[in-house]
Amino acid sequence: MKITELLARDGLSLSFEVFPPKTDTAFESVKAATEEIADLHPAFISVTYGAGGGTSQYTLEIAKTIKEAHGVPTLAHLTCVSSTRETVRARIADMKAAGIENVMALRGDIPADMQGMDRSNWPYRYAVDLVRELKESGADFCIGGACYPEVHPESPHQKEDIRYLKEKVDAGVEFLTTQMFFDNNLLYNFLYKIREAGITVPVVPGIMPITAGNQVARAIQLSGSFMPRRFVSLVDKFGSNPAAMKQAGIAYATDQIIDLYANGIKNVHVYTMNKPDVARKILENLSEILG
Ligand code: FAD
Repeated sequence: MKITELLARDGLSLSFEVFPPKTDTAFESVKAATEEIADLHPAFISVTYGAGGGTSQYTLEIAKTIKEAHGVPTLAHLTCVSSTRETVRARIADMKAAGIENVMALRGDIPADMQGMDRSNWPYRYAVDLVRELKESGADFCIGGACYPEVHPESPHQKEDIRYLKEKVDAGVEFLTTQMFFDNNLLYNFLYKIREAGITVPVVPGIMPITAGNQVARAIQLSGSFMPRRFVSLVDKFGSNPAAMKQAGIAYATDQIIDLYANGIKNVHVYTMNKPDVARKILENLSEILG
């Protein structure tokens, strides 16, 4: 099923993100965790893509298993910036052959050894180049794209970031998933601005439950997210007590999700970090709300 069809349905829903293993040896344990998450039957599951190393084929393998063995619609991520045209076209052909219907078209982060290089001749400089490639492939993919309520870290200002986001949507992106954020007002403000800029596609907010004190620094480094005082106090108080931090982090994420639903958002995406217990607990917390 296409994600846009799911997002158009009445009622509230929750979807999950999982990631593939970074090494071959981790494959079985990661696959087992993603299958346990699939058994919770969220609206859909996205599977991220690691461009580096030889494990990128696992995205497809996990997405296919979730869809075929567990009956959960999947969204396979694909990045392009450090890839050749041949590699990207081969991946697109693999996705077509595997019956993948939904693709998240991403640029990917610029690898450290490629930073500062002249990018003018690169086949894929931005996600929009991949969106165009997916469109030209002739496959009937439902294409998603990423967006940044707090501005992409490389953008000089939000106006420019939103202008390029509009270009990406106009090229064929049918829905957007946001970077994590810890203050919902940032999302509401962003939605107002992109709607004003003429971006009308559905936006799926991405929520990251912070369940360990040492996750905070990494999350900020990756996303540049603003940490509200309320959240900082929670980490200060419980960060050194793993069980308490987990409970508090899940409660904070649940609270964010309920506020999003209360303010008109129909589907929220949870970055599960491959933790079935966290995904399950959040679903339990929302059982009456999701019906
Ligand atoms: P783009 O849309 O290309 O934007 C990147 C930057 O370039 C922005 O600053 C934008 O304003 C600017 N820009 C865009 N177009 C132009 C233009 N024409 N001219 C000048 N500037 C332009 N990474 C992975 O490696 N694997 C994943 O699976 C993955 N999944 C993700 C899922 C979500 C929901 C999010 C939010 C991020 C994900 N990422 C993933 C991280 C992502 O790859 C990085 O954030 C990356 O730096 C940007 O990717 P993008 O697709 O948003 O890029």
